[in-house]
Amino acid sequence: MSHNCIFCKIVGRSIISTILYEDARILAFEDTKPQAPIHILVIPKVHYSNILEAAEDMPLLGDMLTAVMRLAREKGIADDGFRTVINTGPNGGQTVYHLHIHLLGGRFFKWPPG
Ligand code: 5GP
Ligand code: ZN
Repeated sequence: MSHNCIFCKIVGRSIISTILYEDARILAFEDTKPQAPIHILVIPKVHYSNILEAAEDMPLLGDMLTAVMRLAREKGIADDGFRTVINTGPNGGQTVYHLHIHLLGGRFFKWPPG
């Protein structure tokens, strides 16, 4: 638990968020500033600042991807397709330093990204 971390506060329920999936180690909730009709964040409950820190825990990363796939199917965006994003560090555009996977869907996404 990192005390100034907004996502740790969501895990601890001191900040309210719409929770879409939860298990012992993972939480998924709606992004407050959605960039698409579906915009979900999948996070580990434990605080890792970024994906590099989570390298020691590949099973956790696998479980996070499993949650992404489950949510994509549940939200009905699996067939049309979706975008998954993990921003890392300043050049990656990371703004919240608690590892998260963005699941975006419900519209077309350009490539390459801006
Ligand atoms: P990043 O830029 O770090 O990859 O993504 C951080 C994401 O967290 C952004 O999409 C932003 O809208 C979202 N976010 C920031 N603060 C909150 C919050 O308090 N609650 C929720 N649900 N999402 C947040
Ligand atoms: Zn945190």
